Amino acid sequence: MAQRRPSKRIKGGAMQAFSNLVGGLNASATDFYDVKNPATLDVVAQAPISTVDALDDAVAAANAAATGTWANDLLARKAMLAQCADRIESGSEELANLLSLEQGKPLAAARAEIAIAVRLIRHYAQKDAHKETLRRRESDYVDVVRAPIGTVGLIVPWNYPITILMMKLAPALWAGNTVVIKPAPSTPLTTLKLCAQLADILPAGVVNTITGEGNIGQALVEHAGIRKVSFTGSTPTGIRVMSSAAATLKRLTLELGGNDAAIVCHDANVDAIAPRIFANAFTNAGQLCCAIKRLYVHRSLFDQMVEKLTEIAGNWRVGPGLDPATQMGPLNNAAQRDHVRALLDDALTHGGTIHVGGDSLGEYAGYFLKPAIVSGVSDESRLVKEEQFGPALPVLPFDTVDEAIERANASEFGLGGSVWSTDVSAAAEAASRLEAVNLYVNQHAVPPDPELPFGGMKTSGFGYEMGEWGCDDFSIRKVLNVSMGVA
Ligand code: NAD
Repeated sequence: MAQRRPSKRIKGGAMQAFSNLVGGLNASATDFYDVKNPATLDVVAQAPISTVDALDDAVAAANAAATGTWANDLLARKAMLAQCADRIESGSEELANLLSLEQGKPLAAARAEIAIAVRLIRHYAQKDAHKETLRRRESDYVDVVRAPIGTVGLIVPWNYPITILMMKLAPALWAGNTVVIKPAPSTPLTTLKLCAQLADILPAGVVNTITGEGNIGQALVEHAGIRKVSFTGSTPTGIRVMSSAAATLKRLTLELGGNDAAIVCHDANVDAIAPRIFANAFTNAGQLCCAIKRLYVHRSLFDQMVEKLTEIAGNWRVGPGLDPATQMGPLNNAAQRDHVRALLDDALTHGGTIHVGGDSLGEYAGYFLKPAIVSGVSDESRLVKEEQFGPALPVLPFDTVDEAIERANASEFGLGGSVWSTDVSAAAEAASRLEAVNLYVNQHAVPPDPELPFGGMKTSGFGYEMGEWGCDDFSIRKVLNVSMGVA
């Protein structure tokens, strides 16, 4: 077991400074920055600003751990993953509190996020090796042999810091890789706390962290000691990641932005589905890659749907994450709040109507925006074309399903999409024509399921997470050709 120094306390002990984990130890750092509660702008704690030297140390530790028993013994890894799940679960309340404080989400949602992380890691703790034979004949056979890739960089955004981390970390470790994790600058604390817990169980160097802004993320992507990067974040950053990875020809998984359309057909029951559509569009204050971001409603149901969503939004309780009454917290950061507000202002300028919401909460200093329902905007408006990633939903009428699909597909993004109808088979046929990877009928964006792959097309990225396809993306697949003839 690694011996670790306690986290440092700064200036009289009032403010806690978190440490990165490198080679099983708390890494020392000279510079720190404040991580703020997005509801109040109070400082929660401080996180280190990693230097390139600190990154080199993390990669060296990960490379040293990427061989031997760790890489070769799946049974041993699975036993350790099971212990990791128990460890995270036993400290889940503390993790959930910290997550709510730094991310802004309601405590219940933070608890659910930690519970999903535990479920994900438990799934991989029980998952057997995937055996695959490509050909079997009397004279020869061809098997797939899976091997770890080596050291993998995991770059994570701020919307679901722990769920998204664990969608990468659990299968990466299951497959025998070692990792260097880079959390988002506004949400590093829960990740650092969780990784420190894992260090009590995993061999030193298997999990390492670095923290700071995009520059250290870029250095991670460029680093010659990293063999693959699994990145979740915005499309513009994903493009930069792909370009930074080119010089070392790194393997990449890119889970990027989305602008999911939901299509409500003429035969849908508005009263029954409106609460579910609302929940999907506004969960996590709309900061979900696969939230409903454009709602196309058959013209015959349009007014009824707008009215129903407006009513739900008006009653939605917005507040700080730790207030038990809160259903929706603030946005995570000022830039995101300003972006969503700018899209709403643009909608107003171009003749749109904001039926409810879009304003801040006067009593708090943080980045609040009340949930907004918007109509009267064209497909060319910024709110429809761009990813809002926040609590503002444009509702658009259509006349035929073919037209709705064509408009849904006229997007640079290709993450998810749904069709809502009482005619399930017609809806499934229509949904399969959407230019997106994650397709739904009468639901949208189910919680992460480790048995099912998740991914994107077009500018929403490439590669998969979870499911067998996701495990394959964390492995090298070798093709073993065996001749049965005597040599
Ligand atoms: P972001 O792209 O700004 O940052 C993501 C991470 O990349 C952060 O850790 C950041 O520090 C790091 N980073 C920044 N510049 C970098 C660089 N040049 N090289 C390497 N790393 C760099 O994204 P965000 O604002 O944190 O997250 C919101 C975006 O993430 C949205 O677009 C959302 O749709 C997307 N997202 C996608 C999925 C998915 O599965 N497809 C899931 C969640 C979020």
